[in-house]
Amino acid sequence: MLTDQDRIFTNLYGMHERTLAGAKKRGHWDGTAALISNGRDWIIDEMKKSGLRGRGGAGFPTGLKWSFMPKESDGRPHYLVVNADESEPGTCKDREIMRHDPHTLVEGCLLASFAMQAHTAYIYIRGEYIREREALQAAIDEAYEAGLLGRNAAGSGWDFDLYLSHGAGAYICGEETALLESLEGKKGMPRLKPPFPAGAGLYGCPSTVNNVESIAVVPTILRRGGDWFASFGRPNNAGTKIFAISGHVNHPCVVEETMSIGLKDLLEKHCGGVRGGWGNLKAVIPGGSSVPLLPADLCDDAIMDFDWLREQKSGLGTAAVIVMDQSTDVIKAIWRLAKFYKHESCGQCTPCREGTGWMMRVMDRMVTGEAEVEEIDMLFDVTKQVEGHTICALGDAAAWPIQGLIRHFRGEIEDRIKARKTGRPSAVAAE
Ligand code: SF4
Repeated sequence: MLTDQDRIFTNLYGMHERTLAGAKKRGHWDGTAALISNGRDWIIDEMKKSGLRGRGGAGFPTGLKWSFMPKESDGRPHYLVVNADESEPGTCKDREIMRHDPHTLVEGCLLASFAMQAHTAYIYIRGEYIREREALQAAIDEAYEAGLLGRNAAGSGWDFDLYLSHGAGAYICGEETALLESLEGKKGMPRLKPPFPAGAGLYGCPSTVNNVESIAVVPTILRRGGDWFASFGRPNNAGTKIFAISGHVNHPCVVEETMSIGLKDLLEKHCGGVRGGWGNLKAVIPGGSSVPLLPADLCDDAIMDFDWLREQKSGLGTAAVIVMDQSTDVIKAIWRLAKFYKHESCGQCTPCREGTGWMMRVMDRMVTGEAEVEEIDMLFDVTKQVEGHTICALGDAAAWPIQGLIRHFRGEIEDRIKARKTGRPSAVAAE
């Protein structure tokens, strides 16, 4: 488990000043110019060495992603774009960074942008995050006043501007190409790939889109070294990670821990355990609403990292852990997510536009038990026709929670349908 000395985010709970003075006391902006003077290749090598995988959900290696940006300039500007459009149900980790430790992100933007030869970066923040954007804007303003941004940023010789752009409350704008469209002032609809953003991103220029946490850890990784970061977690699952734990635990919280921590340890150490005790656990969604849930029997030995969860046909996603105890109507919980994805589909591709509606309507009847047992397989089949057949990952995100429900709770769905037909109450009464 992580010690206090190992934590990157030392003000996650807002116990200290988030101002520049407070941030400097905690070691931020210390020797930034010296880090930059080591050069671009050194920064990218350290990031590769760190093993950092993107913290926005997909888990793509960050250093490798940066290395896709063109080395030689063809006259087009390069951009870093930070995805702060945190809108996935259950996910609230980036919010804490922006609220309480905004300078980690601002400094990270400068270092990452230098590494990718970007003189400009944009942070695209979720529209509903009003206090967070105020905190972040205040940090940006302070950094400009102190000469840490702008011309010769932090005395590094690199000119760098950082802008904050507000979203307007559409979940799909968290998809990187929809985000770029929105940033350009267009309707937030995902683009077909290729071209990938590193070749033609913002305004058709080479761009890299990274999650808030991925960028906010950069200064500490460079100060302490890629090997230090890689010393946490299992191979291929390196580093520290912020987990956002909600639902039926005694103390929901957002906490930085080592990657690959056991789920049980995570919940017992930081959340006071599952409400009613570990035996009262029914299921966990381990990585935000887009990944399939894990039933209680798989939770005993669950390891919270990309690879272990993928082997269980689930995923680490955003590491938003949603805990459900035995009182949960798990069919209804997944139905609610189906409704969310139906609502948030941008509608430009048929399998997602039509499929999310189909899935939601079948789920409508499964919640009440009005479906037929044969429809369970039909619903699973529909999820398979959506998965992997859409322009962006929202289609997969809509399909996977339903697949997890059917895989692990088919018996409960069948019971509900049979109970409806025979007039007896089902095991978990629908409200
Ligand atoms: Fe839009 Fe859904 Fe297609 Fe993504 S998968 S582009 S959200 S219709």
